[in-house]
Amino acid sequence: MEPADLKDYIFAQEEKRERVTVNRFIATQGSLLAGRFTRPLGWSLPFMWLGLRIPHRRLLRGYNCPPKKFKGDVDILGGCLEPVSPEEYERCKAILWEEDKRINVTLPEEYRKNEVSPPAPYYISRLVVESSKIKWPPDLTHIAATEVKAAYYDKTAVLKHKESEYNGRDQAKTLCRMGFDRVGLMRFVVTEPIDSGKFNPWMIAAHRSSKAMDEYLSHPDPQKQGIYFEPHDPYGTLLISNGAVLGKLEDMAGDVTAKWLHQPPPNPYKEQAAELRAVVEKNLRDIMSCHPVPTSFPILILACSDNNCGNVYVAAVPNPDQPCPACGQKPY
Ligand SMILES: [Zn+2]
Repeated sequence: MEPADLKDYIFAQEEKRERVTVNRFIATQGSLLAGRFTRPLGWSLPFMWLGLRIPHRRLLRGYNCPPKKFKGDVDILGGCLEPVSPEEYERCKAILWEEDKRINVTLPEEYRKNEVSPPAPYYISRLVVESSKIKWPPDLTHIAATEVKAAYYDKTAVLKHKESEYNGRDQAKTLCRMGFDRVGLMRFVVTEPIDSGKFNPWMIAAHRSSKAMDEYLSHPDPQKQGIYFEPHDPYGTLLISNGAVLGKLEDMAGDVTAKWLHQPPPNPYKEQAAELRAVVEKNLRDIMSCHPVPTSFPILILACSDNNCGNVYVAAVPNPDQPCPACGQKPY
């Protein structure tokens, strides 16, 4: 494999930075965030359905939106996948376990185990999805949504595109008003990879990543914090930092750390947003029902970038660039 080109790293993406960050860290099977950090949202990456960059108004289709409200989009919304039944999960587990036992007896004696341990949940879930035994459309009783912001730490150790510490708060509050169960504001800070000279590249990447995080959290005024949050925020704030290494892009290698500055509480606006939530669920169910049971994960729901088309669709394969099946245009 060719070493990764510097221009393909997240730091170099300019206006596409948030899009590439979401695709690389969330919308992938091998996410470095898989199984970690996003649990407080009720997520279990990568065994999820994920809606990416869906305009509010397409999720709220059929609801009479006030003219000036809900003009943005939801960076990520999603929920977990489930097997059609607990028996199906057990059946997949048994298949894999039998297979491991079968292989075990064929091994040379010195490698053979006395007892073969049960397969890891990742492989069982994977087989459940691949044998199209997930509940589809999925149960939509828990949906979490997040707003995403992405900054980067350049090679001269300067934090770039650091927006105001308030940035993203209004968008996160709008998500609460749409009635999602939990809402997060994810702030990513990635690093530009540097030549580590005689030092271990991973050590340097981790060091730069932690410096970037400290800097993001600091503020010139010691009374203030670099990222503003309040103990009563209706959404959670997560800071994620990735130290990139030369040669491999962020989803292939690097050092990821994350910290919830404020854990996402159950959305206090959910009850008053019940009408909107019901519309979102209905629209999602309609979109999902048009698609056969997916056999790969994560299942991506994308929005056509052509507003005249206005389609929202389940991607045939887990590719965040999968074109719109109605008109062939790219998704947002
Ligand atoms: Zn389209």
